[in-house]
Amino acid sequence: MPHSHHSHSGQFCRHAKDQLEEVVVEAIRQGFEVFGLSEHAPRYRIEDLFPEESDLSPLALAETYDSFLVVAAALRRKYADQITLLLGLETDWITPLDSDGISRTLVSHPEIDYIVGSVHHVCGVSIDFDRDTWLRSVWQARQPTESSTMRPSSSSSNAPPTLIPLDPSVPEQQSGYTPSLTELRPFLLAYFDAQYDLLRTHQPEVIGHFDLCLLWTPGVVLRSDELEGVWDKVERNIRYTIGYGALFEANAAAIRKGWTTSYPSREVLRCILDGGGRICLSDDSHGVSYVGLNYLKMRDYLVGEGVRDVWHLVRASERREGDQVVGGRGRVVARRLSEWKSHPFWPKLEAAQADRRA
Ligand SMILES: [Zn+2]
Ligand SMILES: [Zn+2]
Repeated sequence: MPHSHHSHSGQFCRHAKDQLEEVVVEAIRQGFEVFGLSEHAPRYRIEDLFPEESDLSPLALAETYDSFLVVAAALRRKYADQITLLLGLETDWITPLDSDGISRTLVSHPEIDYIVGSVHHVCGVSIDFDRDTWLRSVWQARQPTESSTMRPSSSSSNAPPTLIPLDPSVPEQQSGYTPSLTELRPFLLAYFDAQYDLLRTHQPEVIGHFDLCLLWTPGVVLRSDELEGVWDKVERNIRYTIGYGALFEANAAAIRKGWTTSYPSREVLRCILDGGGRICLSDDSHGVSYVGLNYLKMRDYLVGEGVRDVWHLVRASERREGDQVVGGRGRVVARRLSEWKSHPFWPKLEAAQADRRA
């Protein structure tokens, strides 16, 4: 569709590529009409930095996010007659510092239109950095003292968690280990509890990759008997999200990471649709070559699952009849796009992507 609500650039994110303006120009070229710039929130503890950020400090990350807003706002003005750029922030949810940081950032930056509510950590450990790190987070969630994802204390360690070597005495932490459903259960419970906390505390306008917790185990059925209690939490989170009007993003990055579907996976998507939840589209691009990537596959998946309308965010100042309220912040509203599967955007995107490959 002509929308994406989730993107990054190498100018402000070390694990992405390219300048923000190059990303925007590519989105225009492919025919996007609404493109959300949702750079990652700063992280607040030294141990939450990623290996590629080892020369940085939490303060530097905060300054980087601030400069992102300045550049993004300038690009919004520069390209206003060609594309609607929305300014966003993708959350992290590691410790209470992240929650305080989200609140502070939203207050001091009224130009932020919306947040993408994402959970990338369980028990303080990244779940999507790589598989080994994810194994540690699964293992950590099974430890009696680490049942909560939001660890209150800030440790004084200088080593980011991603750099802590796997413990060779723990078989479940070794590369290639496949946790059983019973072993996965505490991890999944903790993930969906963290997500629920995030939803209740900040009412994100867009729910980022709802089931990122399944990244490394795409076949897992969340309703399995061995995962007792997990599906209840999934349903609870979906109900809560629908209740305040947020959009669930269909996020194409899952396909790039080897899934046959976008996020959310079938089981979750069907539950969202059954409850009347609203879907929006995101490429979660991390550079020019990721813009619109796998959008056609994502369209086919969503159409196959019966997604009749997609929604996109609109700044509240442009609200018109039929637009729907999204959460309590009031900076954006949601607009429906029907007949989206036959929108002229698709052939244009296809042609633009063929050009890029040529
Ligand atoms: Zn990222
Ligand atoms: Zn994310």
